[in-house]
Amino acid sequence: IDQTNIRNFCIIAHIDHGKSTLADRILEHTGSVAKRNMQEQLLDDMELERQRGITIKARAVAMTIQHKGTTYELNLIDTPGHVDFQYEVSRSLNCCEGALLLADAFQGVEAQTVATGYAAIEHDLDIIPVVNKIDLKHQRADEVVQEMEQTLGVDAEDVVRVSAKTGINIDGLIDAIVTKIKPPEGDAKAGLQAMIFDSHYDEYRGAITYVRIMNGTVRKGQKVRMVRANTIHEVVEIGQFRPQQTPCDELRAGQVGYLVCNIKSLNDVNIGDTVTLNSEKDIEPLPGYHEPKRMVYCGLYPSDGQDFKELREALEKLAINDPSFEFAPESSEALGFGFRCGFLGMLHMEVVQQRLEQESDVDLVQTAPNVTYEVLTKRGEILHIHRPQEVPDSGDIEEFRQPIVRVNLIQPEEFVGPVMKLCNERRGLLQNTEYLSATRVMLSYDLPLAEVIYDMHDRLKSITRGYGTMDYDMVGYFMADLVRMDILVNGNKVDALSVICHRADADRRGRAVVKKLKEEIDRHMFEVAVQAAIGSRVIARETVKAQRKNVTAKCYGGDISRKRKLLQKQKAGKKRMKSVGSVDIPQKAFMSILSTG
Ligand code: GDP
Ligand code: MG
Repeated sequence: IDQTNIRNFCIIAHIDHGKSTLADRILEHTGSVAKRNMQEQLLDDMELERQRGITIKARAVAMTIQHKGTTYELNLIDTPGHVDFQYEVSRSLNCCEGALLLADAFQGVEAQTVATGYAAIEHDLDIIPVVNKIDLKHQRADEVVQEMEQTLGVDAEDVVRVSAKTGINIDGLIDAIVTKIKPPEGDAKAGLQAMIFDSHYDEYRGAITYVRIMNGTVRKGQKVRMVRANTIHEVVEIGQFRPQQTPCDELRAGQVGYLVCNIKSLNDVNIGDTVTLNSEKDIEPLPGYHEPKRMVYCGLYPSDGQDFKELREALEKLAINDPSFEFAPESSEALGFGFRCGFLGMLHMEVVQQRLEQESDVDLVQTAPNVTYEVLTKRGEILHIHRPQEVPDSGDIEEFRQPIVRVNLIQPEEFVGPVMKLCNERRGLLQNTEYLSATRVMLSYDLPLAEVIYDMHDRLKSITRGYGTMDYDMVGYFMADLVRMDILVNGNKVDALSVICHRADADRRGRAVVKKLKEEIDRHMFEVAVQAAIGSRVIARETVKAQRKNVTAKCYGGDISRKRKLLQKQKAGKKRMKSVGSVDIPQKAFMSILSTG
């Protein structure tokens, strides 16, 4: 195929605005999938994606089409829309010349429409603004076009109106893709430079690396070198996703596809690395991607100490499919040996935890997630705090700093009051107010990340009846009056239960936490004292009273099946339990800290 007839593009949008559905329609329209093989959201083939109806991994698909007598190759990269997965979006943008920027004809421009739109503009992509779902009865496409003009500076005339569901005007969209997106640059005769933008682990064939060829040509059987990793491999298969893996003989500058090189060690595949031919000695690596920013950390521990090795293997396997996730061994007095894991956000954390439990057979105890902090010590060193246990004694702290994010919130005008109240309660500072249209307003606030990640999105949704959306970007670390609050169970400090919070909130949180723990911890044969403390000062206390009689006692004379059920329930509860001293603390307790924020 002639390089001038290649178009590489991605679809970006706010979640649920129809990216995956549009990808399906384009695949169908170009004859890449027969209608009878069509299932909804074809590209979301990870089990979890189907369950949740969201796109987690970006996917790349090659299509061949005839348009006005010319053959074109379209490479479509489907991206996830959730704020946690911004990192995947940015990697996809690096491999494209164009982007379809989608907005729902009813919902209009939302927070991630703006965030991903700006990212595409920054990457210099040709942008085709698209209003989707024009089949909806309550569509307000004309207003949405205005909102796109206002927020993204696009030209109203350039907006393509489609329905991904019913297929209205997919033709017009293909025409826009072919005529408005520039063909890839690059020289097929130059030395090979291919960008690794993703990888995927196949049990039998090893790592499958997704590449965009920037310059040169790669053929099956060649010896290639990963420039940064400085490792050499033979290309055993080369191909494109159509959408199934389809082998081909070569990939040339401008094309997108995959390489199979028999790579068994995940350390040999670095996302963002450059692939070149081993015979090319002085090829420059392409500018790589940014390191993903892990925003949230938590501890993952096997609920049964013997599963430690299994957990490590499961984490390693997961990491090759998800380079944005990181883990390192840690230990806790209360929980024993486990791992400190870093995530892009809360949804990412949930997804990883679910995948671990689904794809391998380990039972996890998870500690309450926290953001990272910086501590400047009296001796002048800067500590990067990934877990509350690492916070030094207050006497050694010169300055405690927390991450601050700029949050953009978009909502109908009538909700501006409640949203401002929410942001103020969470120590936000208003930075800007902007009307996107007569009825929709974007507020920009600087807020502590810790106040944003846990439940801010849920709260926003509930106070705006679902209409509010938000997105955030890191601003930096700033000084705050923070303290480490410890939890003691019968006088023993449970390190995995410590939290970092604002000094002014400590009393309230301390009381809430011990109350919650009192509910979670079952009665023992003896009294259990639960205390919250800052340093040596106890700020709250609750007591779990001693057990009076056997729980099954009340079943005597009753029916046996009820008694069995009760015992089974107890057993299941036991499984996810950790003993501290002689007190059993259930898994739920380690997370319950969160819901008291
Ligand atoms: P994504 O999160 O952007 O990938 O969105 P999806 O493609 O998963 O679509 C979200 C929801 O919107 C699904 O229930 C789709 O069936 C629906 N949807 C997508 N496009 C259209 C459309 O053109 N019209 C209507 N009525 N619904 C659509
Ligand atoms: Mg999707």
